[in-house]
Amino acid sequence: MTDKTRKIDTILTHAGSDPAANSGVINPPVYRASTVIHPTMQSLDDRQKDRFAPGNMSYGRHGTPTTFAFEDAVAEAEGGARAVALPSGCAAIYAAILAFVRAGDHVLIADHVYGPTRSFANGFLKRFGVATTFYDPMIGAGIAGLMRDNTKILFMESPGSLTFEVQDVPALVAEARQRGVVTIIDNTWAAPLFFHPMALGVDVSVISATKYIVGHSDVMAGVAVCNAATFPGVRHSVAELGYNIGPDECYLALRGLRTAGVRMRQHEKQALALARWLDARPEVARVLHPAMPYHPGHEFWKRDFTGSSGLFGIVLEPASKTAVAAMLDGMKLFGMGYSWGGFESLILPADPGHLRSATRWQDSGPVLRIHAGLEDLDDLVADLDAGFARLRGAG
Ligand SMILES: *Cc1c(COP(=O)(O)O)cnc(C)c1O
Repeated sequence: MTDKTRKIDTILTHAGSDPAANSGVINPPVYRASTVIHPTMQSLDDRQKDRFAPGNMSYGRHGTPTTFAFEDAVAEAEGGARAVALPSGCAAIYAAILAFVRAGDHVLIADHVYGPTRSFANGFLKRFGVATTFYDPMIGAGIAGLMRDNTKILFMESPGSLTFEVQDVPALVAEARQRGVVTIIDNTWAAPLFFHPMALGVDVSVISATKYIVGHSDVMAGVAVCNAATFPGVRHSVAELGYNIGPDECYLALRGLRTAGVRMRQHEKQALALARWLDARPEVARVLHPAMPYHPGHEFWKRDFTGSSGLFGIVLEPASKTAVAAMLDGMKLFGMGYSWGGFESLILPADPGHLRSATRWQDSGPVLRIHAGLEDLDDLVADLDAGFARLRGAG
C-alpha cells in the first residue's frame, strides 16, 4: 500500500484513496455507522479478536472506511506505520500521553508547549499520580540530566506555541532512545508538509488536523501518527477513552489534506513577506519566526524542515494595553480568534510569560500571534500599517 518512493505532494493527492472500492468515485463515501452486522459467528469472533487490524469494521466507535481512508492518508504523509483519527488535536495529545503512563511515572514536556497540553499535565496527569518536569525547549542533549528511572515520555513541540523556538529533535530523540523513553511530538505547525519527525526517530507525531489539514476553519479533528511499536498502545488508549471522530469530520479532513500542499506553500510565502516587512518596522522589537536568522533554533529549522507555515509572532516595543487594543480592535482583515490554519488572516494578543515554568520569557513588549492568510499581500500590509498608526496614536 505505502510506496516509499512517493514524494509528499503525490502522497497528499492519492494516499488513502481507493476509487475501485467505490464504483470509481474519487472520494470515499461518508459512512454513518454504529452497528456493523457480522454474517456468521466465526466472522464476529475474528473481528473481535483483532479489532484494530487494518480495515477491520467491528463497531462504529472504532472507525469506518471513511475514518480508515483519512488515517491511512495521514500515516503515509507523515511517514508513520499507522494513524488514529481523533475528534480534536487535544484528544490526540491526551490519548497519546495516556497510552504510556501509569501512576508513579514521570514525563518531560517542553516549556513552550501548547497551553492546554500544559494544563493537562498540571491537572489531569498530576491528579492521577503522574509527575511532569517542564524543560527548556533549547536544552538539546542536556535533556539527559532531567531523565529519571521512571521517565516514560519525552514530549516535544517544534516550533513551540506562541514563541516558535525550534527544538533539536534528533539530539532529544537520541537521549530518549537510549533510555527507552517514548518520544511524542506536537507537529501541528508544519504538518503534513514541512517537517517529518518520524524520519528522525520520533515514535508518535500528534497533529491538530483542525489547522492546515482541514484548512477552512470549520472542522475540529486530530490525528496521532504512530510507528509500529507505539500504534497498539495508542489505539487501545483511544478506544478506552471512548474517543470517536464523526464521519463528516473525517471526510472533510481528508478533502482538506488533498490541497494542503498548495495552501501551505502560499501561507508560507505570505508569512515570510509579512515577517520581513514587520522586522523592519520601528514598532516591532523582534519577529518570532523560525526563518529569521536570529531566531532561537533557526539552525535546526534549516537543517530539519523543508519550509515554514503561516503562523508566527512578533514582539512589539513596549506599549500600553490601550494602545494594543486600539491597533487590534480596528483591524479590517486580521480577525481576532483562536485556532489558525484556515484561509483567513488572524491576529491575537499572547502572553507567553504566563505559560512558562522552566524558563523565563525575557521580552518586555506585548506579543502578537499572526496567521498569514490567503488574502492579497498588499491589503494585509495596509491593514497592519493602519494598525501601527493607531498603536502610535494611542501612545
Ligand atoms: C490548536 C492546537 C492544538 C489543539 O488542537 P485542537 O484541534 O484545537 O484540539 C494542539 N497543538 C497545537 C500546537 C495547536 O496549535
